[in-house]
Amino acid sequence: MNACIVAIGTELLTPFRVDTNSLVITERLNSIGCSVTAKTVVGDDVEALGRLLAGAIGSVDVIVCTGGLGPTEDDVTREAVARALNLPLDVDQAIEERIRARFTARGLRMASINRRQALVPRGAEVLENPNGTAPGLWLEHGQTVLVLLPGPPREMTPMLEAVIRDRLSSRAARTALFRRVIKVTGRPESDVDERTQPIYARWRSQPVPVHTTILASLGQIELHLTAEASSRAEADRALDPAVAELHEALGLSVVSVDGRTIEAVVGDLLRAARRTIAIAESCTGGLLTSRLTDVPGSSSYVDRAAVCYSNQSKVQWLAVPEALIAAHGAVSEPVARAMAEGVRASARASVGVGVTGIAGPDGGTPDKPVGTVAIAVATETGSRTHTFRFLGGREHVKDQAATTALNMVRLMLLRG
Ligand code: ATP
Repeated sequence: MNACIVAIGTELLTPFRVDTNSLVITERLNSIGCSVTAKTVVGDDVEALGRLLAGAIGSVDVIVCTGGLGPTEDDVTREAVARALNLPLDVDQAIEERIRARFTARGLRMASINRRQALVPRGAEVLENPNGTAPGLWLEHGQTVLVLLPGPPREMTPMLEAVIRDRLSSRAARTALFRRVIKVTGRPESDVDERTQPIYARWRSQPVPVHTTILASLGQIELHLTAEASSRAEADRALDPAVAELHEALGLSVVSVDGRTIEAVVGDLLRAARRTIAIAESCTGGLLTSRLTDVPGSSSYVDRAAVCYSNQSKVQWLAVPEALIAAHGAVSEPVARAMAEGVRASARASVGVGVTGIAGPDGGTPDKPVGTVAIAVATETGSRTHTFRFLGGREHVKDQAATTALNMVRLMLLRG
């Protein structure tokens, strides 16, 4: 079974709103073995939408549209469908009564424009919307099913769940797509690709083929492995050895194979070793601590954190010697180390982290350009310090610095 998705709404063609519904829809369709062959964003334009639908009907099994079901003039989905299929629009009295009742229940009078929402292309079935006035519609035309859902995600998502459960899953093939995610950090994308490509190229010709996609973002890379199979057990037989082989090829740079974030992995390692962590941040401004504390239960290992931006704060709060800053500069390995050791000592924590760098856009020098970040991790057995040169704007430098600091902590804990 294959599908196309149409996100309807002129606001989705501006720089201010993005179509996120199609990601949710793709995920749910894939879960019943239905692949998405195309998706489109189209404005509130009855002609353009009608043309698009007329072209898609007959060429895919399912068309899922979201948006444009509201009561106003610019909500054109019903009309475009009626035109594309050459169907009349009928008033559905039951829908009109239901909408009226929703307004009455809130002590409001239904505006006459809301009657538009009761217009239904002849032959369509109504899909209940428990969270809004716009009902959805289900329409079969030859081989193709058209599913029309409202745009607001909180209305769309439960209705989609019901459509998948009650109507689409029984039509779908008996296979489903199963996915595994391997998170990698500390290696450039090209290096990950070079190591893994010869391995996963072989899997495409297996009885249950495994397909791999690389997604790279700042300092973190994800390998997505998918297999289409008739059961989880069958998918596991193809995916388990594939994940194991990639894990071996990438070694310690694999952060997780079960979807956990690096901050969650660091948390699990700290908790398992009954260790605590204290953090001293300069250029990351609290981002590292924020990410560590995004993990539920982090209070069992995060002891404290200090954001020490000025030299004075590093001296006063972290006992960094003034002479050290004068000799090496605030962005230097000796200062990062003194920050990590200082916060660790004052917290009596097992692990101390110090991050100091130049996030930019100003403040760079020829020998310490923007993006230079010194990171130190201190434990009872000593400290490890490293200087990194990150590329990108201020936000990207901060983000990569936080990820890299988390990775240094992870590696220290793994290596004992
Ligand atoms: P309503 O009755 O609420 O008007 P509708 O079906 O007409 O329902 P739209 O008016 O098209 O929906 O969209 C309402 C809001 O829903 C949009 O402003 C936007 O915030 C959100 N929305 C619409 N489509 C999408 C989408 N594809 N992805 C994410 N959000 C969306």
